[in-house]
Amino acid sequence: MNDLVHLGAGPSFIPDEVKKQVIKEVGEYEDSRLSVLEVSHRSKQFEKTIYNSEKGLRDLLKIPKDFFVVFIQGGATLQNTLIPLNFSNSRDKLGHIVTGAWSSKTYNDSSKLRDSNIIFDGKQNNYTSTPLASEISTSNNDLVFFTSNETIHGVQIRDYTGYGDNLIIDMSSDIASRTINWKNIVCLYAGAQKNLGTAGVTLLVGRSSELVDNNLTSYLDLSNHIEKSSLYNTPPILSIVVLEKMIQWLINKGGLEYFSQQSERKAIMIYDLIDSHGDKLSIPVNHNARSYSNAVFDFKEKNHLDLFLKEAEEAGFHGIRGHRDVGGVRVSLYNSIEIKAVEKFSSFFDNFMKKKL
Ligand code: PMP
Repeated sequence: MNDLVHLGAGPSFIPDEVKKQVIKEVGEYEDSRLSVLEVSHRSKQFEKTIYNSEKGLRDLLKIPKDFFVVFIQGGATLQNTLIPLNFSNSRDKLGHIVTGAWSSKTYNDSSKLRDSNIIFDGKQNNYTSTPLASEISTSNNDLVFFTSNETIHGVQIRDYTGYGDNLIIDMSSDIASRTINWKNIVCLYAGAQKNLGTAGVTLLVGRSSELVDNNLTSYLDLSNHIEKSSLYNTPPILSIVVLEKMIQWLINKGGLEYFSQQSERKAIMIYDLIDSHGDKLSIPVNHNARSYSNAVFDFKEKNHLDLFLKEAEEAGFHGIRGHRDVGGVRVSLYNSIEIKAVEKFSSFFDNFMKKKL
C-alpha cells in the first residue's frame, strides 16, 4: 500500500492482503451492519472470530489438546506477573535463563512474586550468547523461564532440548517462525505485534493440568479467561480480528514449515552479507546465538553508521536503527517480510558498502 520496506522491531509490517481485509471489516464487519470498531464482543460474528483464531492457532502451531489457548491484554509484560501467579505456589522456586533485556525483565517481575534465581546470566558477556543445555543446571527449579528471541540484543534460542521439563517461554518475537516442540513446555506467551498481527492482544498457551489455584482476583485468574474462551471481559476486538486474518494468511502461505525455511533463508542472506564486509562491520552476538528474527550489527566507524542509517531511511528502509541500549543497526525479519523485500534491502546495503565506504 506504500513502498516503504518496514524492517522495524515491532509493531511490524502487516501484509497488504491482511490490511485490505481489515479495512473492509472497518467498513462493515462480516454481516453485522456495524463497523468492527463498534461491534459487541458478544455478537455472533465476533464469537466466530474468536473460534477461528483459536482453531487457526491450534492448527498452525500444532498445539496439543491438553493445552488451553487464551487471548489476553497487558502485553507480554503482564504475563510476567500472570504466569508465576497461575502456575506456581508460594513455595516454588523459579529459575531464569537471562539472555537479554526481556528475560531480565521477566526475572525482575518474577523475583517480586516468588523465590527466583538466575540459572544463566548472559549479562556477564553483554548478552551475546545462549547456554548449551550441558552448561546449565535447571533441576532445582519448579519452573524454568527463558525468552526464545531477545528482540533488542538479537540473541535467539532455537533448540531448548535439555533445558528442563517445565519451561515457560516468552516467544514474543519468534512465535510462528518455526515449529514448536511442546513436550517440555508448561506455558508460552507472545504479544501479537511482531509475527501475528498488531498490538493489543497477547496469546497465552498453557498446559491446563499445571495451573495452580491461588485464589486470585478475577482478571488475574487465568481460569476465568479459559472458562469464558477469552471473553471474560471486553477483549481488544480489532486486534483479535487482525490476528484472525494473520493466522489465516500464515496458514495459506504454507504454515510453519514454510515460514521456518523463509526465516532461516532471510537471516542467512543478511548475516552472510555482513560477514562479507567484516573489515567494516561487526556482529556482537556469538555465531550460534544469532537471531533469525532480529539481525543486530554495527559499523566499526560511527560516521559510517550515521551515513548508512540516513541513506537507508531515505531509500525507504524503515525502522533499522538499533535499540538505544545497544546502538548500531537492527534489521527485523518477521514473517510478513517476504524474501523479495530482504533482497531489495541486501542489494541497497551491498551497494552502500561497495560504493560509499
Ligand atoms: N518480550 C519480548 C521478547 C519483546 O520483544 C517484547 C516487546 N518488544 C516484550 C516482551 C514486551 O512486550 P509488550 O510490550 O507487549 O508487553
